[in-house]
Order: sequence, then structure tokens, then C-alpha cells
Amino acid sequence: MEKQRQNQKPFWRKPLDYKEIKKRKGNVIIIEDLCKGCEFCIEFCPTNSLKKSEKLNLKGYHPPIFNPENCTGCGFCERICPEFAIIVEKIEMEVK
Ligand code: SF4
Ligand code: SF4
Repeated sequence: MEKQRQNQKPFWRKPLDYKEIKKRKGNVIIIEDLCKGCEFCIEFCPTNSLKKSEKLNLKGYHPPIFNPENCTGCGFCERICPEFAIIVEKIEMEVK
């Protein structure tokens, strides 16, 4: 039963108004030299779209790097950053 469920498409019906619904994505801009490496943004991103980079900024910390694939543009990383080093641009896209 469980295996059968896994093979099914998760949403086999589309809502009637799906063409009017916009999917939200985000573009995260990181001002690397403001970062103090606290990793709050990495820890609390609900989609794991941020991770610690290898490079060092001017202060000697590792700023995060952004992977846009799963980001929903929720803006949480921007709100939680104590150094105001993150800006989130919200982008609305058509659902296909
Ligand atoms: S929350 Fe801000 S200061 Fe902390 S690691 Fe992320 S970008 Fe850097
Ligand atoms: S906007 Fe939300 S989903 Fe995107 S990186 Fe920031 S916390 Fe993660």
C-alpha cells in the first residue's frame, strides 16, 4: 500500500483556478562583507537553500551561499539576519 502511494503523482488533480495562482520564488542577495558568520540564516531556512561557503569575507567569516532551486522567497533569512546582510527579492511565476 505504502509503495503504491509512493508511485502515484502527489497531486493528480489540478485546482480549477490553477492558471491564476502564482508560484512564489525568491532571489537572495547576500552582502558578504556584512556577514559575521552566525549561521542563523543557514540553520533556519525552511528549504535548506543556504549553506556555509568556503571563502572568507573582509571580517574573516564564512558568508552563506545561496542555491535558488528550492527557495520560496519566504524572507525569513532576511528577517533573522542580525547584520542586515541579506536582501530577498520575491518573484511570482506562473504555475505550470
Ligand atoms: S544570518 Fe546574517 S550574519 Fe548570520 S551567517 Fe547569515 S548572513 Fe551572516
Ligand atoms: S527566502 Fe526563505 S526559503 Fe529562501 S533562502 Fe531565505 S529563508 Fe530560505
